[in-house]
Amino acid sequence: MNIVVIGAGIIGLSCGYELSEFGHDVTVVDAGVAGAGGSAGNAGWITPFLSSPRAAPGAVRDAVRSFTSTDGPARMRPHPELGFATWVINFLRASSKARSSRATASLQAFSRNAIGHFDSLADRGVAFEQYTNGLAVVFKERQNLDHYQQLAAKKRSLGYDGGITVYRGADVAAFDPAIRRGVAGVMHLESERHVRPETLTAGLAKAIVANGGTILEHERVVELAPGPQKWTVVTSENRSLIADHVVVAAGYPSRALLRPLGISIPVEASKGTSMTARGEGVTPSHPLKLYENMVACSPFGNAVRLSGTFDIGRRDTTLNRKRLDMIVRQGLGYLEDWRPTEIDIEWVGHRSTTVDDLPIIGPVPGQRGLYLATGHGTLGVTLGPLTGALAAREIAHQQEQQALEPFRLTRFKGPNKAPDVSRLTHPQTHIEQPTDTGLQ
Ligand SMILES: Cc1cc2nc3c(=O)[nH]c(=O)nc-3n(C[C@H](O)[C@H](O)[C@H](O)COP(=O)(O)OP(=O)(O)OC[C@H]3O[C@@H](n4cnc5c(N)ncnc54)[C@H](O)[C@@H]3O)c2cc1C
Repeated sequence: MNIVVIGAGIIGLSCGYELSEFGHDVTVVDAGVAGAGGSAGNAGWITPFLSSPRAAPGAVRDAVRSFTSTDGPARMRPHPELGFATWVINFLRASSKARSSRATASLQAFSRNAIGHFDSLADRGVAFEQYTNGLAVVFKERQNLDHYQQLAAKKRSLGYDGGITVYRGADVAAFDPAIRRGVAGVMHLESERHVRPETLTAGLAKAIVANGGTILEHERVVELAPGPQKWTVVTSENRSLIADHVVVAAGYPSRALLRPLGISIPVEASKGTSMTARGEGVTPSHPLKLYENMVACSPFGNAVRLSGTFDIGRRDTTLNRKRLDMIVRQGLGYLEDWRPTEIDIEWVGHRSTTVDDLPIIGPVPGQRGLYLATGHGTLGVTLGPLTGALAAREIAHQQEQQALEPFRLTRFKGPNKAPDVSRLTHPQTHIEQPTDTGLQ
């Protein structure tokens, strides 16, 4: 079969790779350079533990604050486009305790299988930089660590079975001497991992080509035309690609791409930023979630990446110097003496965030051969290879994957596209506060 994948981020490349493994003729088309969108400068964490939606209790309070805040990790700025206000209202609705509990349970169940898919890629020869020494959450305030231990107990009740160790006092420096003396403590999530995301997208792109596939760069898809049997995908270079199946994995621009077909998806951009640098002082040996400031610190060999911010409604790609400086300043506040001396990359990128902050994965009803894989929010790295593997089975073998049920497009009901919560799995599970929606 001829399959066109639109978008060469971690999601599109994972789908493309798995489909090429089944022997299909895969073309991945990207408006820019493969792997250079939201999948490039992120923290790279593979984190089943933090797989929770940001649509969670407290979101209303945070949203109100965020309209005026200049130095918080999350910001919401009204976007003039019709539909933004509806998106915000539905996001806040999905943040109720009951709905976010169900969504968390669905994500926890799904992400449980995420790590194995990274091993599967490596076993099949996909080359990427991966680190397997866990993820540490660092707390300045003791009560936050205490609350987090309650959260860990709730995650356990949802089936999280990774090792967890808490370090306090002098044990923190023994665990990772790069962490500033005097923090309240650290929770080490031993089975989490991290990758250098640019190497993962590069490895997947290379593997697709090795399997006989094609990657087209600098070609924006401008039209998707259904035919009686096949799709025509028209690019900005006036190329027409004929496909049996089309996978739309274009991040938040998927929404604009699908609109002419009368398909509405409730996805919004949330802008993040990062700095990657080499430096002097003790480099962290673990990726660190710097809890109070929601900054992510990811060591990649001799480089360190500090990333964060969740600016909803910001679709521009301009580097906001103040936001980046805030992340760096706040991040360094948790480190003993590591300081950047040589900046390698300053980056902005967008997560595609749905109103319930769950991904959309599956066929588009009424559009034979059209498949959607987007809206992975803060979890595209974690869930990318898993999404690709399951989506490929559905597309190539028509084998419906039960694990994808909570993530179907059909969960959004009515003209406003509010999620229909009855379709989420685990309706009996409730998670009390505290929640941690992460900000990776
Ligand atoms: C600061 C930050 C930190 C993060 N940290 C983590 C983390 O630690 N762990 C984790 O799991 N997730 C993390 N994420 C989330 C993760 O980066 C995203 O979920 C993931 O990159 C989404 O991948 P994607 O393939 O959907 O989108 P993208 O990587 O954005 O790819 C979409 C591609 O589609 C292309 N495209 C768009 N429109 C068209 C068109 N019309 N025609 C052709 N191509 C088109 C774009 O050029 C782009 O390359 C983070 C995000 C940010 C911003």
